[in-house]
Amino acid sequence: MTKRLYIETVGCQMNMLDSELVVASLRKAGYSLVDTPQQADCILFNTCSVRQHAEDKIYSALGRLKNAKARDPHKIIGVLGCMAQKDQELIFKRAPFVDLIVGPGQLHQVPALLDDIAAGGGQRLEVSLDRKAGSRTEVEQSFESYDPLRDPAMRPTPFQAFVRIMIGCDKFCTYCIVPKVRGPEQSRPAAEIVAEVRQLAAEGCREITLLGQTVNSYRHAAADGTTNLAGLLRRLHEIEGIWRIKFITNYPRDMSQELLETVRDLSKCSQYLHVPAQSGSNAVLARMKRGYTVEQYREMHGRIRATLPAAGVTSDFIVGFCGETEDDFQQTVDLLRESRFKNSFIFKYSPREGTKSDELFPDDVPENVKRRRNNELLASQNAISEEDNQAFLERTVEVLVEGPSKAGMKQAADDPLVQLTGRTSCDRIVVFDGNRRQIGQILPLAIYDASAFTLFGTVVTRRAGPEVYELALASPPARVPVH
Ligand code: SAM
Ligand code: SF4
Repeated sequence: MTKRLYIETVGCQMNMLDSELVVASLRKAGYSLVDTPQQADCILFNTCSVRQHAEDKIYSALGRLKNAKARDPHKIIGVLGCMAQKDQELIFKRAPFVDLIVGPGQLHQVPALLDDIAAGGGQRLEVSLDRKAGSRTEVEQSFESYDPLRDPAMRPTPFQAFVRIMIGCDKFCTYCIVPKVRGPEQSRPAAEIVAEVRQLAAEGCREITLLGQTVNSYRHAAADGTTNLAGLLRRLHEIEGIWRIKFITNYPRDMSQELLETVRDLSKCSQYLHVPAQSGSNAVLARMKRGYTVEQYREMHGRIRATLPAAGVTSDFIVGFCGETEDDFQQTVDLLRESRFKNSFIFKYSPREGTKSDELFPDDVPENVKRRRNNELLASQNAISEEDNQAFLERTVEVLVEGPSKAGMKQAADDPLVQLTGRTSCDRIVVFDGNRRQIGQILPLAIYDASAFTLFGTVVTRRAGPEVYELALASPPARVPVH
């Protein structure tokens, strides 16, 4: 009998990939996806614990299921991912009707655990070891990289895929829960990654995005030598069928010149670099234990601009971190303005239990000040994004067509003409009118309008000469000469 599965995913691209893989393995086990929790026999939440808000959302969603579970005790409810690893039994205490809690290092067990629960095995909890609960090797082994079969049907588009090249993180920025919930940094063998990308290419995938918390720290030693990210890119570039390669997220201190030149020299590498600065103040960066000064960030950013002048560079910032003064904040605004990021993700500091900043420093910037700084920084960023996007007017860009735009999704599914979105190599979104047949292709678009977030374009078609219009009714159709 088919079992009906509903899954909700919050958080980063790692979580999106984890959900894709969990669903792929459950489809193999006879599950089919449904669109609402009401229709489902099994409801899974793949969770995030980077900020309090992400956790609050999941606890409220669980709260809303209490009555449904009381009415139908056979409905299985599971919590997967970072919040499962962080809160563990606490989830059973706050939502006693939850059946399953599985950390990100144990996702391979989900199908078997669901079978056990369905067979009356009772509540199950599977998480990895706490970072201090064993030797480095023991803890590493308890966080298993989850890279099973891929399922093109489970991706938003079959021609784009995330590929995990590392798990975990060892940087221990003081505000961040990731090293605790995703475990020690471990790079996957290059040969495994190459094999996975070959398989993806054979299935029709054209764009891959390599994932790692500090993706440019990738380093794997094998019998035939050590591979870093630049070396891995060179190997992936050889794979036929792959048109574009991206990688996120970069750690500023590990942005080597070799990597930048590799991106410059390999035509398939996207000219797009996400390199979070987090703050423009040395005092704040030191309290965050980011491992660089603002001068070092500027030097790195200057090397990017010198080596890859056309690259889209993006950043993350945390505002209202412990002890952040108006002057510290102003230095962040200054860094953002002079770096002219393509866009920035801006977050209000959210204290996380189990992190060093929560233990060592009071969360002393009031909420209204955090909000104001967030809005101010965002306004500065949006002004820059809009100005820089204007430079694209009347230029022709190449995009990989991703699918219908938001407006396009509301159009009739059987209408071939639809508003589409595509992405440039430097990660700019372009909206244009096209045909569904163009999805998955690389197309030239002439840009005629630009806002802070979007470029607007028209498909550049080749010009046909006037001679084609001389049609004689009785003769066969004229061959159209193309110039
Ligand atoms: N590994 C990546 C890096 O180092 O840039 C990103 C990891 S984290 C999932 C994504 C972003 O969330 C971070 O870059 C940071 O700006 C933000 N973040 C992490 N912890 C946070 C916290 N406690 N409060 C607010 N924002 C936080
Ligand atoms: Fe968190 Fe810092 Fe690691 Fe990024 S580098 S995941 S912010 S600890």
